[in-house]
Amino acid sequence: MAKYSIIVPAYNEEKSLQLFYDAVTPLMRNLQEEYEIIFINDGSRDATKEILRGLADLDKRVKVCNFSRNFGQQAALYCGMEMASGDAVIAMDADLQDPPEVAMEMIQKWKEGFDVVHGKRKKRSGETVFKRATAYVYYRFMRKITKMEMPTDVGDFKLYDRKVVDAILSMGEHDRLLRAQTAWVGFKQTFVEFDRPERVAGETHYTLKKMVKLAEDGIFPNTNYHLTLPIKLGLLLGFASLACFVTFIVLTCCHIFFGGLTAWLFPTVGALGGVILTCQGLTNLHVGMIYKEVQNRPKYIVAEKYNFED
Ligand code: UDP
Ligand code: MG
Repeated sequence: MAKYSIIVPAYNEEKSLQLFYDAVTPLMRNLQEEYEIIFINDGSRDATKEILRGLADLDKRVKVCNFSRNFGQQAALYCGMEMASGDAVIAMDADLQDPPEVAMEMIQKWKEGFDVVHGKRKKRSGETVFKRATAYVYYRFMRKITKMEMPTDVGDFKLYDRKVVDAILSMGEHDRLLRAQTAWVGFKQTFVEFDRPERVAGETHYTLKKMVKLAEDGIFPNTNYHLTLPIKLGLLLGFASLACFVTFIVLTCCHIFFGGLTAWLFPTVGALGGVILTCQGLTNLHVGMIYKEVQNRPKYIVAEKYNFED
């Protein structure tokens, strides 16, 4: 019999929690398998803590982790993964924007042998055009520069097999975007589609500032693209200046007038700029290598092994 862990980050969700619990519990009970619901109270300032205490007192399968302050949804998801003891872990939002029935479909896919099941959004009710447009551009950009198989139109609503959870927890970086890490670890991934409803109560916590931070945490740990830009520009400028010098020398030798002494200033400044940018680029590459060491990700992840017993 399998055990499921539902992990739910909650920040000021006093109006949603009871509704969430009432929607999820009957479906989980119906499975007639073991489960736990882990709520991570991310430093809420409303009655979230008291409501969760009440739910936990009535139902031992409800577990609660109260953060000392607001650390963000990604930190809460990481905590949930660390606390989860299930064979499969399902991450869901507290506001019922991730429909519990879809979580049941994810479980079916897991039983068919998939290791990660993404919730893919077909319709995104209650989201501004700005949010949808930035998400569209961001994920396509991410795929291009990180060369990772990042599925589009998916958030953090996912099911993870135990081995995927362990792989993600073994990644040492501090600032993390779970959906990017999920793409990095690999394994057998699939998705179920759903129409994303509006939140059941309250308002989104994602301000523009938080969205920018999330975007950064997806990009910087996963690519060296930005670090290689100065060296590329520096070399380009260096070669352009060299070509300019050669042209000027040829023109001078052929006694063709081309602008006099001041004209030599352009390739000279260009060459100097090229040297400076190239040197900065080299430092950047080294910083990138140091970051990789600090990140301390596993060097490889084994999905299966055969004939290794004894
Ligand atoms: N959340 C959190 N900490 C935060 C912000 C959000 O734990 O700092 C939780 C929130 O309670 C919800 C989930 O993360 O369960 C998604 O947040 P939200 O619904 O505000 O995001 P949206 O669905 O608008 O992208
Ligand atoms: Mg939401």
